[in-house]
Formats: sequence, C-alpha cells, structure tokens
Amino acid sequence: MNTLPNKLFKRSAVIALLFALLFCIGCNTVTTPNGTSETYGNRLMLATNNTAFYYDGILYWLKDTETISHKLYCIDVSTGEAMPLCGKPECSHDSASCNAYIDSDGRGLVVYGEKLYWISNFSPAMYLWCSDLDGGNRQKVMELDKDTENLTSDSKFMGIYDGKLFRCGCGSLVNEGNPIKSMLLYSQPLQSGSEPTRLYYAENVLRVFSRMSGNKLYFAIIRSDFGLELCVCDMDSGEVEVLYSDSNSEYDAQDLLAIDDRLILHGSGIAVYVYSITDGSLTTIGKEGCEYDYVTDSKLYDVVSRGYYRLYDMDGELISDGAIDPPGFADGNYYTHYIGCVDDTMYFMFLVYPQSNGQISLSPPQESIAAFNTETLEWSLVFDDRE
Ligand SMILES: [Zn+2]
Repeated sequence: MNTLPNKLFKRSAVIALLFALLFCIGCNTVTTPNGTSETYGNRLMLATNNTAFYYDGILYWLKDTETISHKLYCIDVSTGEAMPLCGKPECSHDSASCNAYIDSDGRGLVVYGEKLYWISNFSPAMYLWCSDLDGGNRQKVMELDKDTENLTSDSKFMGIYDGKLFRCGCGSLVNEGNPIKSMLLYSQPLQSGSEPTRLYYAENVLRVFSRMSGNKLYFAIIRSDFGLELCVCDMDSGEVEVLYSDSNSEYDAQDLLAIDDRLILHGSGIAVYVYSITDGSLTTIGKEGCEYDYVTDSKLYDVVSRGYYRLYDMDGELISDGAIDPPGFADGNYYTHYIGCVDDTMYFMFLVYPQSNGQISLSPPQESIAAFNTETLEWSLVFDDRE
C-alpha cells in the first residue's frame, strides 16, 4: 500500500533535484556584480541620511569632524574596536591624502558587491564613489544629475540592486512662486555617463522612507496632511504599485523596516504601524496610552524620560525598564540619536556639546556610539569620542 506514494515521492524528489541542479547552473552564468546592497540584519535608521551601514560584523560610519568634512570609520561591533577606514601604513588620518577622508558633504553609505559606495556633493557636480572595504582603491563611479538629486535631498534612501543605484527621498520645488514638497524614486545604472530613470513621483509629501527586500523596494509616503501611502517597486521591471492608502490624518514615522512579510513604520514616538504584505492589513501595535519610539526585529523601545527607557515585546507587554547609562555618561549631559539596530543590539549616538563659560560653544559635538543589548539589557560604548 505504501509503495505507490513512496515511488511518487522518490520520482518527485529526483525531479526536484534535477531542477535544483539546472537552476544552480543558471545561477552561475549570471554576471557580477549582482544582488542587493541590503543584507539581513541591517536595520539602521534612514533618517540619518544613510551615514551608517552595517555589513558582515562591521559598522561603517561617516562621521562629522572639526578639521575635515567627513571621515569614514569602521567599527567592529563585536569587539568595539574602531578605526578610520584608511588601511595606509603610518597615516595620521588627518589630511586629504588619507583614504578615510571625504572632502565634501558625503552621504549615503552602502556595501554592494564587496565594495563600499557613497555620494559626494562636490560643487558643481555630485558623484557616486566606491572603494574596497578596507578604504583602498577609491574610484569615481559616475556623475549624478543635480536636478534629479534635488528632489531626493531630504530623508533619502540609497540602495543598489542588480547593478543599478536606487535613490528615494523628498525635495522642494517652486511652482508659480509656491514651494511644493515632493518625493521621487529613481534608478540609474552603475556606469559612467548613464542617465537617471524616474520611477515614481508624488507631491504634497512630508516624508518618505524606503527599504529593499529581495527584488522589491518598499516605500512609505507620509503626506503633508499626515495621510499614508505604502508602495512597492519591482526593481527588475521598475514598475510601482500602491499597496495601501489611508487619507486619515494620523500617521507619522521616522523610519520604515521590512522584516519578513511585514513593513513596520516607527520612530515618531506616537505609535508603531505594521503592514502585512501577505494579507494587506495595517495594525497599530501597543496599548492605549503607551508610546513607542523604536523597533527592533522583536521589541519595542520607548524613551520614557531623559535617561530612562522601557522595553516591550511586539504585543506591547512590558519586558523591562531601566536607566540609559552607557559607561561614562551617567551625568546626563548629552543628547542622543538612534542609529538603528543589528539583530538584538540597538545603537545610539551620544552627543556632547563642548561648553565654554557655561554656554554651549559652536564647535561640533563629540559623537560617541553606545550599544544597548536588548537580550542582556547591558549598555556598552563602541566608539568613545570624548577627550
Ligand atoms: Zn589615513
């Protein structure tokens, strides 16, 4: 009685194996670079203009400096070891000859095809650059069109998929004397002399956030009247579809996450919204009267007051609460920015503004990075910028 199903099973297993072999042979013929710049576990905030990117145990970070415009750092998040992304022996890392030095309004860090990419805003032109992951072999990839880039100058996203740059953000344009805030999604092949292709444009936009997942680029538009639109772009075809639209004026966020089959809007401190890609439903997480600031894969984090946090599970049940106290910051004389999370660890920038005669001076703040492990509930410093 069991022989027939067994035979069928064996036959289908053999067919499946043959298909798998054929598919793999097909895979190997694809030319490189291929794939996507987004890797699993990269949940860094988009509101920071992509000045941080996590890849393979390393946090790449574009730091403001006092003497030079920007300096690239690489931080080993397991050991907390941080260094300028230079790789040159006997370099003092403080001049234009240093590989870590970016002499412009550098922004948009992504790793793609084992190379680090970023955008520099040299006047009068903007360029996409890349280097090896140790900072060496720096190359100008292509020029970006400034008029197109101007429409993505705010809360922008940068990603690379299948040899194409994808940019999404907000910008202002003036129409008959009236400023209009709009958003644009465009793509451009990674080739010198290539042209941008506009994929989606909308007006009356407050913010837009994007994430890549597989061959899809999801984006959330917060309208000027706090309405919401969730959209998806098929990056192979460039086609855009509106997944969800709600004109009720109640939405705000600072970031979008794409985790499994969920799109999660968070960061406003008002509420966390979860959209199910599978069934198209939108849920507001948490209990009445609770506020949630940031989300990891499995937890909600709330800054209750200065120096004090609460941690909840995804149903809004309290897990723990405590002091926000990385080593050396107990005096509370700092400001924080959330950078994002990698798996269970949340990263925060701690800013200390230099003071003179009791007044905050105009010098740039010291920017240290602290990690909060949401499993062990321990705080640690991974980059200490204080003297
Ligand atoms: Zn150097």
